[in-house]
Amino acid sequence: MKPLVAIVGRPNVGKSTLFNRLVGRRVALVQDEPGVTRDRHYADADWEGRIFTLIDTGGFVPGEKDSLLKQVREQAQFAVEECDVIIFVVDARVGMSTADEAVANYLRKSGKPVVVAANKLDNESGLMQSLAGEFFRLGLGDVQGISAEHNLGMGSLMDSVVAKLAPKVEGEDAEAPPDDGKIRVAIIGRPNVGKSTLVNAILKEKRVVTSEVAGTTRDPIDSEVTYKGNELILTDTAGIRRKKTIAHQVEQYSVIAALKVLERSDVAVLLMDATEPHVDQDAKLAGLSMDRGRALVIVVNKWDLIAEDKRKQDAFRDDLKIALKFVGYAPVIFTSALHGSKVEKVVDVAVELAKQFRFRAPTPQLNRLLDYMVDNNPAPIVKGKPLRLYYIAQVAAAPPTFALTCNAPEGVPDMYKRYITNQIRKTFDLRVPIRLLFRERP
Ligand code: GDP
Ligand code: GDP
Repeated sequence: MKPLVAIVGRPNVGKSTLFNRLVGRRVALVQDEPGVTRDRHYADADWEGRIFTLIDTGGFVPGEKDSLLKQVREQAQFAVEECDVIIFVVDARVGMSTADEAVANYLRKSGKPVVVAANKLDNESGLMQSLAGEFFRLGLGDVQGISAEHNLGMGSLMDSVVAKLAPKVEGEDAEAPPDDGKIRVAIIGRPNVGKSTLVNAILKEKRVVTSEVAGTTRDPIDSEVTYKGNELILTDTAGIRRKKTIAHQVEQYSVIAALKVLERSDVAVLLMDATEPHVDQDAKLAGLSMDRGRALVIVVNKWDLIAEDKRKQDAFRDDLKIALKFVGYAPVIFTSALHGSKVEKVVDVAVELAKQFRFRAPTPQLNRLLDYMVDNNPAPIVKGKPLRLYYIAQVAAAPPTFALTCNAPEGVPDMYKRYITNQIRKTFDLRVPIRLLFRERP
């Protein structure tokens, strides 16, 4: 997987400004379901060919209720445990604070590679000033003067971050899991929703799960199983819950576990607890599966505790449709992992979605679809001219990605993108994420 780089620091030093600056270009490439945007605190960044996932811990590890010091400490702890390199942002105009020093001490002891970003140095002489600045005294070594807002010093900051990453491993930034005929299924969800129970139900045997012992491992556990002639690799991300972390933080670890596992998965099975829908966190995980372009099955587990009532299921489904509307393509299944009910259905659907994930559309059919779309929906006017779509081609699978050549690639309205996405879904019966690229005619 791609390396993880965390941004830590006190509130207001400019973490989110820096995050947006560094990932801006890539975020623009990641598409939401057209018309739906979400707040993201992680995204891929790219520096001279090295791609890594950047996490703004300020948004990722919320600590509104805590004292400032505790909050920053928790973010730093998270960064040290889960990430490869840390960007420690300080406000060079305000100077060093007690909280900065506390975090610096913690980071220094951790031995993790750290780059100090002395931010808000808004002019070139300011940048120079910082080189002799007081932040060297933090004892973390590398100090980079930057202005996140004015886009200064980004190059050398990125240089020193990338220099601290472990050497690149071949395939670490692959956009899709290997196409070796095996179906990789990530079981994700908040703690205690029933992930391990579901995996055990699928395997139909109780394995000895080493992570039952507190703190032995937080690594996801892979299980290989042959199911109706398909080879599946199930990855259970449950191990993380035995961590000796503060309660509210544990939730964040289920996101980071998913972040780490999804890259090498074809399908995410997102479990929710029917008795305890926690829409915010469930939505974060669903959104992550979409960002990573993975097929998604939404599983509402512990349905035995609600009673098998069709009307209740419909009501639940309607609520989900609103709360998780950006993943409206994902099938929803009501299960009881404990009693084995609908467990087989989950696997059947995951297998089917894994196939759709690697779907390749026949070109003649795509061309017919383009003709149909153009004939049936009046092209919108973009900058005073009618939008013209010339060609369509599938340029990638896993997830299916389509390029449309047109006369105004920048200006295609969300509504029209949505229309095209829906038509592609309908025509090929796809319930996986679909990506659209718009290109100028060469
Ligand atoms: P966070 O709480 O650490 O995420 O900080 P924000 O990114 O929200 O920034 C806090 C404030 O500092 C905002 O008003 C930003 O506009 C401002 N800020 C961020 N970077 C710079 C910078 O390089 N120069 C100046 N002058 N202000 C900045
Ligand atoms: P994980 O943290 O997501 O792996 O959750 P576990 O699989 O460890 O399950 C947490 C608790 O929920 C355990 O006590 C399970 O027995 C229980 N549980 C899991 N699935 C179900 C279910 O479908 N119905 C009921 N009633 N309990 C369940």
